[in-house]
Amino acid sequence: MTHYRENHMSNDDTIFGKIIRREIPADIVYEDEQVLGFRDIDPKAPTHVLFIPKIRIATLNEAGAEHADLLGRLMLAAAGFARAQGLAEDGYRVVMNCNENGGQTVFHIHLHLLAGRQMTWPPG
Ligand code: 5GP
Repeated sequence: MTHYRENHMSNDDTIFGKIIRREIPADIVYEDEQVLGFRDIDPKAPTHVLFIPKIRIATLNEAGAEHADLLGRLMLAAAGFARAQGLAEDGYRVVMNCNENGGQTVFHIHLHLLAGRQMTWPPG
């Protein structure tokens, strides 16, 4: 079990930790006590926002039952943002990549919100 990985990795291990602490700039579009949302630096859709927990969980593999509420908050933050931006009716996609096969490159979990164009299926 690598369940406790986030507990012995400091929060500044990834670029997202720096964004949380405002050490590097980001276009922040959503914030609450536990979640931050900011625009992806290399957008793959007209709207591409990343929703991250303020605590670091490296990958979805490290998430446990104690994180269930936090994971739900990521989803609800994305859906709420989409609704507020008028993107909900047309639709959107939310994605969380995990490890190499999933295409994860930043090891602080993040939910991608992609909107503003027709998505294709299956994803590449
Ligand atoms: P992953 O491939 O891990 O699912 O997604 C990581 C995402 O983070 C990518 O879409 C990438 O463009 C984005 N990203 C990487 N570095 C930065 C950064 O410094 N600022 C912002 N806003 N996005 C970043």
